[in-house]
This record gives sequence, structure tokens and C-alpha cells, in this order.
Amino acid sequence: MRYSRQIILDKIGKKGQQILCKSCVAVVGIGALGSTCVQLLARAGLGKIILVDKDKLELHNLQRQLVYNEDDVGKIKALQAETNLKKINSEIEIIAENITINKNNIDQLKESDLILGCTDNLESRFLINEFSLKKKIPWIHGGAVKTTGNLLNILPGEVCFRCVFSPVKNFNETADTVGIINSIPVIIGALQATQAIKILLKKEYEKDLIYFDVWNNEFNKINVKKNKNCPACNGKWEILK
Ligand SMILES: [Zn+2]
Repeated sequence: MRYSRQIILDKIGKKGQQILCKSCVAVVGIGALGSTCVQLLARAGLGKIILVDKDKLELHNLQRQLVYNEDDVGKIKALQAETNLKKINSEIEIIAENITINKNNIDQLKESDLILGCTDNLESRFLINEFSLKKKIPWIHGGAVKTTGNLLNILPGEVCFRCVFSPVKNFNETADTVGIINSIPVIIGALQATQAIKILLKKEYEKDLIYFDVWNNEFNKINVKKNKNCPACNGKWEILK
């Protein structure tokens, strides 16, 4: 049976697998982080996965975006990822959204039980944060650049992305500008997929901000607190408005 190794795992079990098979997750950004997340979640039997990405696959993406291969260069990422994931698991529902999320179209994600933030776009992260707080949908932020990555689980009523990160003008350190080693997004993507399963199964999830530098094998958990002056937590939308 396809999921037998998860069902015999005490932390998931038969009931847990049934929950996963009925769950819907949206993955925003099917790049390096998203490639790892969607493959793991498709293989784990997540019932419905919504893939959100507007880009076309470029040759240099193959260095780290594991859901694609050479035949896919030039193709629309969301649609191609859907095709490739169906070859991995034809029993689940996969929906490709060839869009860049913005305040006018993000409502399409409202049926999700969880949103995975796999984008390298800072404004998209703040948008996902506000939308998730408004709709009370948990989301998991992941980021990776150079040799480092970070992850934060954001659940309704708890510390949010805006509590921890401020919008900084000209903050554009991405893989495109400063490069990236291909192992770090795989690690962070795998951690995001694991946290997704834990949150969907209502297990104890990681509350600290996780930071990892794969070059030095430096793993840190940083305690983060809710900011009482956080605009997002106080419903003062900066992007959704
Ligand atoms: Zn907040």
C-alpha cells in the first residue's frame, strides 16, 4: 500500500494518513523550496495541492529546483510541476495556478487548510501573512539564500511574520542577486513539509524561528515573541487594504 510506511509510523498512523488524504495545502512559489515541499507532500498523500507560480522554467533553475528536468525548460512552472507531480502520485488532486499572487487574487487560496510560503518575494510574504491572519489559516514561511535558510510557523493568534520581520526597502538579497547552494532549499523545504504534516495533524509544532547554515552545519532556534504593536496582528493591513 502506497502509504504503508507512514501508517506504521506511530506519529502518523491510519487516522493521521486519513487526515492528510483529506487536507488541502497551497504552495506559493514552485522554485527551489517549493519543489521539495510539493514532491514530499505529493508523495505523502496530501489530498489536494494548489501550486502557485507565474514564472517559466529557466536553465539555471535546474541547479536547485528538483521537481523539473531539462525537457521542462521554457515551460510554465505551475503547469509543468502539476504534470510531473501526477507522475509521482496520480491519486491526489493537483491544481496549477499560473499567477503571481496579489491582493486581488489571493482569495483563491481560502479553501486551503495550510499555506506554504516558498516565495523569495518579500511583498508576497507579507501578503500571505495578512491573508492568513484574516482568514485564520496557518502558514509556514521558508526562505533560503546563499548557504543559509530560515523557517517560521505562523498560526492564528500566535507570533506572525510581521511581528518578526519588517518591510525593508531595497531588501532584495535573493538567489538571483547573491547566489545559493542547492542543498539549503532542500533542507528548508523538507523542514517545511514536516512542519506542514505536524500542523495538519494538530501535533506540537515548532514555535521558534529556525535558522540553518548548511556551510557550517550551524543550526539555531531563535525564540520569537508576538509584538503587541504589530500592524498585521492588529488588523491594520499594509498590503491587503
Ligand atoms: Zn504580528
